[in-house]
Amino acid sequence: MREIITLACTECKRRNYQSTKNKKKHSDRLELKKFCPFERKHTVHRETK
Ligand SMILES: [Zn+2]
Repeated sequence: MREIITLACTECKRRNYQSTKNKKKHSDRLELKKFCPFERKHTVHRETK
């Protein structure tokens, strides 16, 4: 069971990425360091609904 999630930049709040995750392995919100094209730097992106 993999669920589609959206990753939003925690600094500018833009939704930059879509991903999937295994809900059984990760029950809490996912946080990943990703490149934000709007700020042109790496920021923390968090799972959002
Ligand atoms: Zn950003």
